[in-house]
Amino acid sequence: MMWIAILIILISAYLRLPLLIWSLILAASLLAYASVADIKTAELLFVMLVYAAIIIPLNLKPIRRILLSKAILSAMKKVMPTISQTEQEALEAGDVWWEAELFSGKPDYTFLQNLPKPSLTEEEQAFLDGPVEEFCEMLDDWQITHIDYDLTEASWQFAKDKGLFALIIPKQYGGLDYSTYCHSQVILKIGSRSGSAAVTVMVPNSLGPGKLLMTYGTEEQKDYYLPRLAKGIEIPYFALTGTDAGSDAGAMPDSGIVCYGSYEGKDNVLGVRLNFSKRYITLAPIATLLGIAFKLYDPEHLLSDNEDRGITLALIKRETEGVEIGRRHFPANHAFMNGPIRGTDVFIPLDAIIGGVDYVGKGWAMLMECLGDGRAISLPALGTSAGKMASKYTGAYARIRRQFHTPIGYFEGVEEALTEIAGQTYIMDASRSMVTLALDSGTVPSVISAIVKLQVMERMRRVINHAMDIHGGHAISMGPLNHLGRAYQLTPVGITVEGADILTRTMIIFGQGAMRSHPYLLKEVKAVHNPDLKQGVNDFDNALFAHVGFVISNAVRAFWLGLTFAKFTLTPGDKHTHHYYQQLTRMSASFSLLADICLAVLGGSLKRREKISGRLADALSNMYIMSAVLKHYENQGSHKEDLPLLKWACEDALFNIQTALKGIMKNLPVPFIGALCNFIIFPLTKPYQKPSDKLGHQVAKLILSPGETLNRLTDGVYQSTDKNNATGRISYAYNLVLETESLQHKLRDAYKQGQIKSRDRDTYEMAMEKNIITEDEYNALVEADKAVQNAIKVDEFSFSDWKVETP
Ligand SMILES: Cc1cc2nc3c(=O)[nH]c(=O)nc-3n(C[C@H](O)[C@H](O)[C@H](O)COP(=O)(O)OP(=O)(O)OC[C@H]3O[C@@H](n4cnc5c(N)ncnc54)[C@H](O)[C@@H]3O)c2cc1C
Repeated sequence: MMWIAILIILISAYLRLPLLIWSLILAASLLAYASVADIKTAELLFVMLVYAAIIIPLNLKPIRRILLSKAILSAMKKVMPTISQTEQEALEAGDVWWEAELFSGKPDYTFLQNLPKPSLTEEEQAFLDGPVEEFCEMLDDWQITHIDYDLTEASWQFAKDKGLFALIIPKQYGGLDYSTYCHSQVILKIGSRSGSAAVTVMVPNSLGPGKLLMTYGTEEQKDYYLPRLAKGIEIPYFALTGTDAGSDAGAMPDSGIVCYGSYEGKDNVLGVRLNFSKRYITLAPIATLLGIAFKLYDPEHLLSDNEDRGITLALIKRETEGVEIGRRHFPANHAFMNGPIRGTDVFIPLDAIIGGVDYVGKGWAMLMECLGDGRAISLPALGTSAGKMASKYTGAYARIRRQFHTPIGYFEGVEEALTEIAGQTYIMDASRSMVTLALDSGTVPSVISAIVKLQVMERMRRVINHAMDIHGGHAISMGPLNHLGRAYQLTPVGITVEGADILTRTMIIFGQGAMRSHPYLLKEVKAVHNPDLKQGVNDFDNALFAHVGFVISNAVRAFWLGLTFAKFTLTPGDKHTHHYYQQLTRMSASFSLLADICLAVLGGSLKRREKISGRLADALSNMYIMSAVLKHYENQGSHKEDLPLLKWACEDALFNIQTALKGIMKNLPVPFIGALCNFIIFPLTKPYQKPSDKLGHQVAKLILSPGETLNRLTDGVYQSTDKNNATGRISYAYNLVLETESLQHKLRDAYKQGQIKSRDRDTYEMAMEKNIITEDEYNALVEADKAVQNAIKVDEFSFSDWKVETP
């Protein structure tokens, strides 16, 4: 009976029944037990008294608040640091999205199922097939990065005329107003042709003043600047970073003093006198409209009684007196414009502040919001583009490049690298596609944006490194024929900008995620800081008790799901995907439990324990990845042939989550708690393994041979038909090699039977003379061989003037 009572209580916790129902079930169980067990009345009375003393106050909120919550709240008030207005606003910037379900321990998959399929309108598709394709054709990356150190004048003009800088600007201001998914596709396509051109297009669309103006600008600012930005009359940038303020951008020394000054011939204008020094600013050398972040001070109280007004954003015209621009940095051998900008006593009127006086001091939250939006689009598109290019051309290269008489892609060592290229590209494509749906629905998912930026950049790094290894000297020798070297050099740029990856992983994702996405944490923190004590106690009480129930429920769920391998959990999915949804539910419960344990054990010091919060970020990120690939697989039509990619991605993600959770438990400062959590979460040791070699082989095969899966995986990139350029020559040779594959088999068999002395090109003629192959077949083999020789050659340069000389 006792066991039945315990079971009922555990089931109530698993199902997250309210405390009152839980208490009634407990009382009923105790009474039922007493009725059948040989228990004395005095003992029963004692048990019921203990029950009443604990359970009744817990259920009666007014009593519970006075006896418990008020005391805990007072203790918390003493230990918790105060939150400034700026911190509060930054914390509230952006929205909570799918990650809240992952944080819940019991994800509601209807959210995921209700997300639409990313798609393009006819107009957007025509834009990609027309102007974007044409723009790509105009780009010569070697010319841009090695000779001109800039896009050609014609490409700049084309980009302005066709609206490539106006993707997000509403139509009423002359922009294209395309969806986020389309925006991502545009960057992806241009990125597959030239990284420098893609970065040039990225900035005005997502990181520049355009987005800030659209979101916060006054009507006058929008009416004046947005049409000018849409037509490319203004080229914008945004400057946040300075010498002493890199990752810690909030520590900027750049300042603005509210004062009277002269502006454009008018005296006595109320405005701001700025002094600043920024660096690494993309488009700064040629920009005409400067967006800038600075700390605003009002010592003469011209705006308000408050002297320190906080971070503020403003727009400055390039020609404003005191602005110094013009020099360039040279970012990793890429030629997008990037440089420092300085200003000495630059006077701007108050209406140059983005959003006007109402937005004074709100700059940090404004940036966080717009950064959350931007970093989910541009860099993930660029990273995915690199992955798609690597999958398409490294697979093909590994098929045409032979060593030891064998295509190098057939060697297991190379196959292992090809597997990761294909698998990670699938993950990148799924991750960046899914987040665009949030943005298109008007949500700015700040935590998921950071996850996607980090994960796609890290995976891009791995993919490009593998692609470089497989191409060997072919990718190392720079020149117009090299299609990989510049992408390799671009990797650290993506890793560093828009929140450097280490910082994003260890500080931002869980730091922000725990607060924003946890169902109760932010409510508790807000309640602690609420100056209205009565309201604070009420809010705190509600959140705290729900939180305690949440932890108990997650512990029960994690243990049960671990014990049963989540086999009895109801989730969506077909016979191939159902299992992965179940494991995702299991990992969600485990993650939520462990996140709360870490918060309880480490408290505020979790902020400094970046190795722990980095692992929590890894677990959360890989849960997002699993959701994204499951959704992506379904969106693409649940093709059976794509299953190896889906399985590889899910198994890799599960293994990563397990590694992260085990790492946390092993390194918790109280080893007993770590061991207990390990017993609850992984009662049957380590359930997940890295994807098997057999699965890896199936994945690699998908990019070594043509097929619909490869087409879907690499869809969206620019494809050259020029059989002599860097990538077109690989495709051309690849097609001929595939067409002559059966002839190669004939030669191999003839060689084995001793009919010809080798199976290399020097025996083609002998094979024809001996009627092993026909004349047409001989010609086809020679043509394929010529194409391969052309595809594997690298650039050579003259000694004298560093001119390319055709080898
Ligand atoms: C090509 C390029 C273009 C750029 N474009 C722009 C632009 O248009 N506008 C603009 O404002 N800025 C721009 N930046 C600046 C960019 O945002 C910064 O480079 C970035 O914020 C990192 O600053 P930092 O380079 O000074 O590195 P640092 O801040 O010195 O960081 C160095 C390393 O320390 C790590 N780190 C720092 N603090 C922590 C921490 N607390 N925990 C864990 N790790 C930490 C970082 O992750 C990084 O790996 C650009 C930079 C580059 C290189």
